[in-house]
Amino acid sequence: MGHTSRREFIRQGSLGTAGMLLASGLVNSSFASSFISRTPAILGGTPLWTAASWVKWPMWVQSEDEKIVIDSIRSGVWSRAKLVDEFEAKWAAAIGTKRCLTVSNGTNALITAINQFDIGAGDEVITTPYTFIASVQAILANNAMPVFADIDPATYQIDPAKLESKITKRTKAILVVHILGLPADMDRIVAIAKKHNLIVIEDACQAHLAEYDNKRVGSIGNAGCFSFQNSKNLPIGEGGAIVSSNDKFIDNCFAAHNLGYAYGTSTGAVAGDSFMKASKIRLTEYAAAIGLAQIKRLESQTATRHENAKYLASMLKEIDGITPIKLYDKVTQGAYHLYSFRYDPAKFKGLSRSKFLEALRKEGLPASGGYKVMHTQEFMNNAFSSRVYKSFYDRKTLDFENYKQRNNCPENEKLCSDAVWFTQNVLLGSRQDMEGIATVIKNISRNADKI
Ligand SMILES: *Cc1c(COP(=O)(O)O)cnc(C)c1O
Repeated sequence: MGHTSRREFIRQGSLGTAGMLLASGLVNSSFASSFISRTPAILGGTPLWTAASWVKWPMWVQSEDEKIVIDSIRSGVWSRAKLVDEFEAKWAAAIGTKRCLTVSNGTNALITAINQFDIGAGDEVITTPYTFIASVQAILANNAMPVFADIDPATYQIDPAKLESKITKRTKAILVVHILGLPADMDRIVAIAKKHNLIVIEDACQAHLAEYDNKRVGSIGNAGCFSFQNSKNLPIGEGGAIVSSNDKFIDNCFAAHNLGYAYGTSTGAVAGDSFMKASKIRLTEYAAAIGLAQIKRLESQTATRHENAKYLASMLKEIDGITPIKLYDKVTQGAYHLYSFRYDPAKFKGLSRSKFLEALRKEGLPASGGYKVMHTQEFMNNAFSSRVYKSFYDRKTLDFENYKQRNNCPENEKLCSDAVWFTQNVLLGSRQDMEGIATVIKNISRNADKI
């Protein structure tokens, strides 16, 4: 079989009979052995994939998706109305909370949730350093102080033991991030929060339908926040949601997302008086229509990602120098917004992570090194230099050198230097694609001294 046809073969694996035979293992051995001595693409071999091999994200199935969006646009009802209501009802049902409020994006979902638990200037919020910058910006937007607790190096999630030692009299909340779409150690985190009377807000912006002990994340703490940004597993472009079973809290969030009016109005007319200081961050009807089109695929895509991630990990863990990310025992479903493993250059004859990533990308794999170290970034110092911070925190607390020392997280720094990520659409490939990834990495390992 020539290179081109072999590549086609892999790409169509999930569709054709050949793929099914491979998946069942019937012809697997000859298929796999045909790759073993491949030349890595970075050394001139033919790449196994191209960008077009992977599911294009976001997905758009014209025949199934377009009607609801076109209808919504033609109706002229573009400000929040029944489609937003319908999406909120569906998302609350999907997560298992009584209520859901959509907002303009995940960042504003976090900002609003933190704010409506009355967390603000002078308060401390404990979170993980291994997260997207929005988690931290949301704390700063409320003039609260981000306090970082180091991660568990096996799961990449906030380490409950380290979290507890960071609690002070000023601590109000734990912002738990289910990073990469994988649940944090919620039993222990909730127990610590109960013991110290702290609010738990779940940043589930990467964790749509992830489950811990058969409960969907976002429904375990006091509130959960989601993002529907373009890259996320449920993409709208921009969009976010706050979920909770606390009616009073969601009613307050509703007011906060709509200029302080207690009840939203459908098409922009304003009724009654505003009772609180608030912003205006409502979702549009056509955005909700896109969400309703996308949500139909989410359950099955999530199951596929979870299965493929398990299969990929079972192969990768056999490769010296590769350590796949671990799940806590109680995790019943991972959302895998990203797939990650840790890379040890020493086991690859000293091949640096950046060279290794380049070798993966040359094979057509969308690979990156992931997050940079968080607690040393200047945006926090910028907040600390503001008048409001200076009036609520003492000089030593705001001294950035001191801050960096207090928040030093060595496990996070190591992870930032040795993680490898694939974007979630890789996990929507076939089982043969997963086998191809393991093979490609083995070949890079075998040829590491030449790269
Ligand atoms: C995407 C993301 C956010 C912010 O969501 P946006 O919709 O992009 O504003 C917050 N936290 C995490 C962990 C995210 O990945």
